[in-house]
Amino acid sequence: MIKIYSAGNITDAYLLQSLFSEARIETQILNEYAQGGVGELSFTQAYPELWLINAADAKQAIEIIKQFEQREVPVGSIQCPQCGEPNPDSFEVCWQCQTTLP
Ligand SMILES: [Zn+2]
Repeated sequence: MIKIYSAGNITDAYLLQSLFSEARIETQILNEYAQGGVGELSFTQAYPELWLINAADAKQAIEIIKQFEQREVPVGSIQCPQCGEPNPDSFEVCWQCQTTLP
């Protein structure tokens, strides 16, 4: 596996992972639970990390990350009717629970 991205927060990590899976790129999130709850000690370098399962996907993955990072303002979002999670309006299914979005 190779590390492809260090996300500022777990939501970004999940969003990117969802974009990757649409492109059939397999990734794994490390440090998924590293941020802990309010009041807990935070460890340095504990941001969620996306790791690529297959190094051959790296080039395509980097393109997806570039597009992801170019979203300057958060795009309009759709709230999932099932779990209430906000999703970018380009998504057709909720990244969290896979419910089809309106
Ligand atoms: Zn949902």
